[in-house]
Amino acid sequence: MKAAAFYEYGPAEAMQYADIPDPEVGSSDVLIRVQACGVNHSDLDSRAGTSRWPFELPMVLGAEFTGTVVEAGGEAGPFRPGDLVTALQQYNCGRCAQCARWRPDLCERFEIFGTTRWGGYGELVCAPARVVVPLDPEDDPFAVAASQCVVSTAWHMVNRLALVRPGDLVLVPSASGGVAGALVQCAKLAGATVIATVGSAAKAGQVSALGADMVVVRGDGDLAADLMRATDGRHFDAVLDTVGGTLFGAHLSVLREEGSLVTCGAHAGEVVPLDLIPVFRNGWRIVGFRLAPPEELAASLELIRSGSVTVPIAATFPVSDAAAAHRFLEERQHVGKVLLVAD
Ligand SMILES: [Zn+2]
Repeated sequence: MKAAAFYEYGPAEAMQYADIPDPEVGSSDVLIRVQACGVNHSDLDSRAGTSRWPFELPMVLGAEFTGTVVEAGGEAGPFRPGDLVTALQQYNCGRCAQCARWRPDLCERFEIFGTTRWGGYGELVCAPARVVVPLDPEDDPFAVAASQCVVSTAWHMVNRLALVRPGDLVLVPSASGGVAGALVQCAKLAGATVIATVGSAAKAGQVSALGADMVVVRGDGDLAADLMRATDGRHFDAVLDTVGGTLFGAHLSVLREEGSLVTCGAHAGEVVPLDLIPVFRNGWRIVGFRLAPPEELAASLELIRSGSVTVPIAATFPVSDAAAAHRFLEERQHVGKVLLVAD
């Protein structure tokens, strides 16, 4: 098959559209012809060699994809050629000691498409039948391929880490980003009042359209004071942060006592200023997102298919030009998700 693979770490041009062996289809596997595959920032780190994963090269990236069944092994269950399907982007083994303790998220033999095994950046991808999710013909294959990672991250942050409850007041900084946009929508589904910030007035309307109750455009002044004015002095129950950076302290400072800041990203800066005294005086919790367990991936797919949470698609590129997709993502000028689609 043809696939966008990389044989050594490097810049976007390291991605080569090359002939590689077809995946081997085991008796409980499903072979899928890829229609669309999401491109994630982590793909750029994987390709550049900065992700600290021990990759076996060549690697075919692509955690989230949709496509149609080509063939199914004899024990794969009721899959038929032509069925529209997707797959959980990562899955546990179901047999190790951690899986036996009902902690699939701590599995010792965790598999991630595009990281521990070949993913959706090719014509074909092979997946164990137990993680293949059947779709309906009317499902949008682009929306499903674009959204699993973003929505499952947001869902887990809102419901499992921040424990957002109806009536809570939630802050989503820099809400024009992909995960942040899903955080706005998931926090609204949980019954919260959501205040979002954006860096420019041009982005405010788009964030309002996602359901944010109020959008604060950041100026040069005191952000914490602006936020307290916006809430009439009420502090936030939770901050759902995807950016980190120099505003981390301001975001933390608007939490109520024992409020939580949940973080999943740091594109605005990985190392942040942090005054520890208010952290322990106020009992603030700073919680990192690690990963979403399998049942939340499945729940997220239902949210996407029902249209309850939507992720805008910024651009599509043919899989034969994955390097261009990576360059586009590296420029960070876009809003929404980037997809690779079959040639
Ligand atoms: Zn396991």
